[in-house]
Formats: sequence, C-alpha cells, structure tokens
Amino acid sequence: MSPVTKRLFVKNYGCQMNVYDGRRMADVLAPLGYTIVPDPEDADLVILNTCHIREKAAEKVYSELGRLAPLKRKRRMLIAVGGCVAQAEGEEVLARAPCVDLVFGPQTYHRLPELIVRAERTRTVDTDFPVEPKFDRLPEQAAPQGIAAYLTAQEGCDRFCAFCVVPYTRGAEYSRPAADVLAEARRLVDAGAREIMLLGQNVNAYHGAGPDGGEWRLDSLIRALGRIDRLERIRYTTSHPADMDDALIAAHGEVEKLMPYLHLPVQSGADRVLARMNRKYRARDYLRIVEKLRAARPDIALASDFIVGHPGETEADFAETLRLVAEVGYASAYSFKYSPRPGTPAADMEDQIPDQVKIERLARLQEAIDRTQTAFNRATVGRIVPVLFDRAGRGALQAAGRSPYLQPVHVDCATPAEALRLHGRIAPVELIVAKQNSLAGRLAYQEAAPA
Ligand code: SF4
Repeated sequence: MSPVTKRLFVKNYGCQMNVYDGRRMADVLAPLGYTIVPDPEDADLVILNTCHIREKAAEKVYSELGRLAPLKRKRRMLIAVGGCVAQAEGEEVLARAPCVDLVFGPQTYHRLPELIVRAERTRTVDTDFPVEPKFDRLPEQAAPQGIAAYLTAQEGCDRFCAFCVVPYTRGAEYSRPAADVLAEARRLVDAGAREIMLLGQNVNAYHGAGPDGGEWRLDSLIRALGRIDRLERIRYTTSHPADMDDALIAAHGEVEKLMPYLHLPVQSGADRVLARMNRKYRARDYLRIVEKLRAARPDIALASDFIVGHPGETEADFAETLRLVAEVGYASAYSFKYSPRPGTPAADMEDQIPDQVKIERLARLQEAIDRTQTAFNRATVGRIVPVLFDRAGRGALQAAGRSPYLQPVHVDCATPAEALRLHGRIAPVELIVAKQNSLAGRLAYQEAAPA
C-alpha cells in the first residue's frame, strides 16, 4: 500500500549546498508520503532551509515566518526551520517565531521523520552534531536533478576564518568516502546528468577514504569521476587557497572533463587584512597559485568572493584589493560588505568600519569587478565553445546554457523544435555578443534538414 500523500514545501536560502540539502530532505521524507508542492499555501509541512552567512539572510527567514504565521492559523500545517540559522540560534527561533514547530540543524536532517513525529506533539529543537555521519543514513537520491547536478563530497570546515560562522553551524570538516560519492555520481548520470558540481564548504580540503584503502584527495576523486561514461563535465566549489595543492592544480591541466573555471575566494588583497581574517595565506601566495593554475590550464577562468570593510581594513588595504582584482582579471566575483556574525572572532574586534565607508568601498569594488568581468566576456567573443544547454531560454525560440567558463549563453533558434532539441545537449556555439553577465551566440553547425 502506498503511504498517504502529504505535501511538502521547501524554501532554500544561500548557497548550492543548501539547494542540495533541500533536495535530500525531500528524499528523506519521500518514504513517508511527502511530495513537493510549489506553494507553501498548499503544504502540510513547510521547511525553511536557512543560511546564516549574511545578516540579511537570517532576517529574511524571520520575515518569511511572519508571512507563514497567518497561513498556519487558517489550516493545519507544520513549520520547520532547518539549516545554519537554526543551528546558530536554536531555541531563539522558537522564542522569536511562535509559529515554528521544529528547529533542526544541517547535520540532523536525516532524522526528519522522527523529528516531525515529535514536533506534531511538542515544539522540538535538534541541533546536535551526531556521531554517525549523516550521509550514511540518507536514502539514495530519489528525484533526478536534471542535466547539471549537485553532489556534496565534503561538509563542514576546520579553518575558522575570523568572519565566518560555518565551522560553528556545519561543524568539523567531513569528507564522504570516495566510493559513496562515485556511486551517487553514477546514479545521477544514469538519471540524465551530464555535468556534476562537487560541493563542499571547503571542498578542496577533501580527504575521503579511497576504495583502495588509502586516503583520496580531491584530485583523485576528480580523476575517478572523469572515467564515468556519459559524464561530460566536472566542476567543484568552493575552495580555500591554502588547500589548493599541486596535484589538484595538475588535474586542471590533465582531466579534460574538469571545466576551466575555478571559484577560489581570496576575500582581500591586503596581507594585513588576510592575517586578521585568519586566512593563512598572503596575497602573493594567492597570486602564485593563480600563476600555477594558468600554467596548467591557460584558459582557466577565475572567480572569487570578497569581503569589504572587514574590521581594521584601511583605505590602503582596500586599494590592494582593487589592485589584486585588476591583476587576476576575474571572470566573475561576489562581493559583500562585512557584517558581524555573533560568536565569531571578527564580531568582537574593536576596529569595526562605519557602514558608510563599507558602502562606498563596495561600490568601487563592484565597478572594478564589472570591468574585469566585461573584459573576460568580450575576450571570448568570436570563439566557438561547447555549450551545455541546461535551461529554458526566454521564449520558445531561445535555448540557454553555460559555456565551459560558466558564462550564461543564449542562442536564438529557427524553430521551437530546434530549441527543444538542444535542451540537454552539448553543442558548439560561436559567441557573438558579450554583455556584462551573459553572452549571445549562434550554433556553429547546421542542423541536418529533416528527410
Ligand atoms: S574556509 Fe570558508 S567555510 Fe571555512 S571558515 Fe573560512 S570562509 Fe568559512
């Protein structure tokens, strides 16, 4: 007998790892009869899978809970808050939002079935870091993810950057055994994936048990993934520069399926700020890694994260960040104003930067990033690159996908049927127009005329 159908709505905040976790929550709940619905109004269980990296992200969760409360007064539903806000704030979430029935951390979602039963009787908080790894207790992925799939290889972090909550909310660094990651990758490929993005808070710290009894670093895992038939593209995110070892850099030159794109957050270009951030490298160490990556894979596109206005950042420090942006020539980058996260060392530093200064520096940094990004996109115009068409374009006559450099590319097609045929395929595209955030292209081959 099939279980009673119940409706589940999951809203993910923040990074790709939360998107992956949100899907895995649905997998855990599927045997209980839960199916995903697109609207919280129709749900029996609403999960907000939260992110604590930015202050605004946490506040957005409380605003969303404010919108859900009246819904819950109209009909019976359970409201759960998971993810990093849940881990960091625990009981505080129950105190601030009376409509919440369950608070659970990112390491306990494999226990959702029992937690939901408990939460139906009494408001429940579970933010333990369990001894048994969560991944050993998760079911196989149920829903196919499509052509470009996420796969978590590593979780947590031991680096304790001064500004970051991850080591406190996600716990100690954990790498899944390589055999488990490879088995999940094969299942994703069987279900239609052509690209796999390996995920981890610090994925290049990966050191999982290898099937040969030894310890595998990320380069070994990538090489093994590269041998899976029908898997065409491999990516990984995100990485810490100090964990970028020579073997991994060499893999960029040797594994054809490893795409020439790397998100390698530098955070600041000033050694003084990097030391305050506890990043454990200097700007010149970072630039040396970039040099080695470009020697291994000359066309590699680089992306980064930046925090402006970290405590103690002077105008001279900030100028070094601008210099580094221009020197690396990023293909893309995310930049944020520093915002203190309670419990982190940087939050207690005395030399906090006034908000107005942060706003002004952020605007200048974003202009600098826009310049390098536009220059990178323009430099690819005229080239023919393989595009993985993984999404619908705007309108029936457009197909859209990603270049090897992760640039969004769209192509106008002659007929809706041609646009549909492209979906899920990799096709050569000549890039013809560069915009700041995307490119227009045309197919660099003729479709065979129907017989
Ligand atoms: S390496 Fe990344 S996840 Fe780890 S503490 Fe630093 S910023 Fe946070």
